[in-house]
Amino acid sequence: MSALANPAPVLEKPIDDAIRRADDVILQQRNISADEKAELTTRIKQLLKQRNAVLVAHYYTSADLQILADETGGFVSDSLDMARFGTEHPAQTLVVAGVRFMGETAKILNPEKRIFMPDLNAECSLDIGCPADEFNAFCDQHPDRTVVVYANTSAEVKARADWVVTSGIALKVIQHLKDQGKKIIWAPDKHLGNYVQQQTGADMLLWQGSCVIHDAFKASALKKLMQQHPDAAVLVHPESPEDVIALADVVGSTTGLIKAVATMPNQTFIVATDNGIFHKMKLAAPDKTLLEAPNEGVGATCISCAHCPWMEMNGLKNLAQALENETNEILIEENIRKKAYIPIKRLMDFAATQT
Ligand code: SF4
Repeated sequence: MSALANPAPVLEKPIDDAIRRADDVILQQRNISADEKAELTTRIKQLLKQRNAVLVAHYYTSADLQILADETGGFVSDSLDMARFGTEHPAQTLVVAGVRFMGETAKILNPEKRIFMPDLNAECSLDIGCPADEFNAFCDQHPDRTVVVYANTSAEVKARADWVVTSGIALKVIQHLKDQGKKIIWAPDKHLGNYVQQQTGADMLLWQGSCVIHDAFKASALKKLMQQHPDAAVLVHPESPEDVIALADVVGSTTGLIKAVATMPNQTFIVATDNGIFHKMKLAAPDKTLLEAPNEGVGATCISCAHCPWMEMNGLKNLAQALENETNEILIEENIRKKAYIPIKRLMDFAATQT
């Protein structure tokens, strides 16, 4: 029933360029003393109050930002719950620490609120690898298919979609569509799409994008680590390659993997996702041992340390600057925003019916 396709080239060069730009910003953000860090933290807390703003951070951002969000009445979570929190919270200004599609999603859902980000160039290789014009042309070739896109896409790509999904709910949405007899276009993550297709048996045409972090996990090295830690449970995010997923004890979203660490009886876990998640995992299970799943280690970049370079662009300095100067605001053309709202709202309404 499946139909695999390679509808567009994956754009290695723009992704490499964006990683290089991220590395420059990361160096600036990391280069602060302990005193400066304390001053920035105090200043950000003041500014959040002054601006009636709340900080919403993703699990993959630095521990500094996650702690700040938790201490100031903000929220740390995956992209779906970040969107939910931002919509339900009364603050009229949201500061989104994450990557740009997360800020855009907040704006799409909350046009009356002001949305700021520490750095608007915080990209995502899935978003970069799915340009709206090429994606629209692909969809035009398959008008009989329901278009399902992952949250990690631009507002323009979402505007073309029938459904937006996150990794936590993708299986349920695709099963729901399959039960209705729908054929599907899936974009942009090929690994997650392949996993969902295998689990549901749905007829899916897959866009061939990938996450540079999860795509780098290696099954052969993971097997060796598993031999060294035979009692460890292996936790894998479904953006990882198929042969890595095949070794997992648990395949799940970020929220699902944190829950697994807290609830499974194992003392040791091998974790195949961005290591920013370790902050919340350690809080959830302080006595357990967490090991990073091995990846291909391509040089001294953040890719080799299993950490998203674009998430790491979010720092205390640029967060303080965005709040102080009210810069880096997310703005979306209203026509696009209204179209993109429909599939996101569909997701949120569907999620509300699930337990
Ligand atoms: S970790 Fe991967 S999917 Fe997540 S924002 Fe970074 S590049 Fe995108």
